[in-house]
Amino acid sequence: MKFLTLKFYLFLCVFLAQGLLGHIFTPIVFSAALPAPATASDVPANPETDFPVEHPQLMNTGEPFVVRLTSDRRKEGAWDELCVVWLGKRTPLTLSAPLSAAPPDARAENPEVFACILPVPLDCQEKTLPLQIVGLTPGKPEKILYASSINIAQREFAAQELSVKPAFVNPDQKNLERIKLESQKNSRILSGINKERYWQIPLTRPVPGIITGEFGLRRVFNGQPRSWHRGVDFRAAEGAAIHSCAAGRVALAENQYYSGNIVIIDHGSGVFSMYAHLSAFKVKLGDMVQAGQIIGLAGKTGRVTGPHLHFGFSALGFSVDPEPLIPDFRVTPAGAF
Ligand SMILES: [Zn+2]
Repeated sequence: MKFLTLKFYLFLCVFLAQGLLGHIFTPIVFSAALPAPATASDVPANPETDFPVEHPQLMNTGEPFVVRLTSDRRKEGAWDELCVVWLGKRTPLTLSAPLSAAPPDARAENPEVFACILPVPLDCQEKTLPLQIVGLTPGKPEKILYASSINIAQREFAAQELSVKPAFVNPDQKNLERIKLESQKNSRILSGINKERYWQIPLTRPVPGIITGEFGLRRVFNGQPRSWHRGVDFRAAEGAAIHSCAAGRVALAENQYYSGNIVIIDHGSGVFSMYAHLSAFKVKLGDMVQAGQIIGLAGKTGRVTGPHLHFGFSALGFSVDPEPLIPDFRVTPAGAF
């Protein structure tokens, strides 16, 4: 046990040293080289007390939730790395990675907490979904350390009618091809799972304005039904500063047909945020950003009815409502546009 504990501290030291050397910013695809899944017989007899894990018991479709494991030094040592198995995918359960010498956010939770953000897909039809935490140690069989399930409730979403230029409802052949390529590119980016975690809870509200379009609205453009609104629209004047909701790396900064000027930020461990319809970029591909850093200016590029910020948030490639992760989500400061 003592040996395993020492190994764990060694892992932590290497992890932190990597951060100081800057190697931590090298993306690593987590799911590439993992051994086969463990069997249920490896689950501890009493997971509630043997392994202190926090997560909700009931979730709505289209919403994210956090799984936390508070590091308890008396019990550590049984693994080198942790991952969560959810929706058939694996995501690392990690401490947050240190990012340069930025002052810590006073609201941020204890960094000595292993955590990940998981999605419940908008179109999930299951009534319950399994969740496992697996311990990984090189050269040893992987071990299921915790197994549970989460009940899923169907969330109702309202409809919203909007009028936009006809070319944004029925694009011509040339633009359909462009839209397809952009959609494939975005999906590829959003399904990546980097091992490092830069995000911290709570997230930062990206702009002060009121919410003008809720997540999950069933959109009807010029009388024609379209898919769910996979983000939140905030009122924002042309040129208003747009802030990153968390630390991360810029994974995309370009002009796209529907999104206009869009920035996607990779927050690590499968979590991404998107900022669309910008009038200007303040970051470029590959830049590292801090939580709250200005990444662009609000605008009305792409499929819009006027200037605003479309703020998207995703985990493991599924768009989810960011509201549960931003405590002041409904709070609009006095004097805000
Ligand atoms: Zn939107």
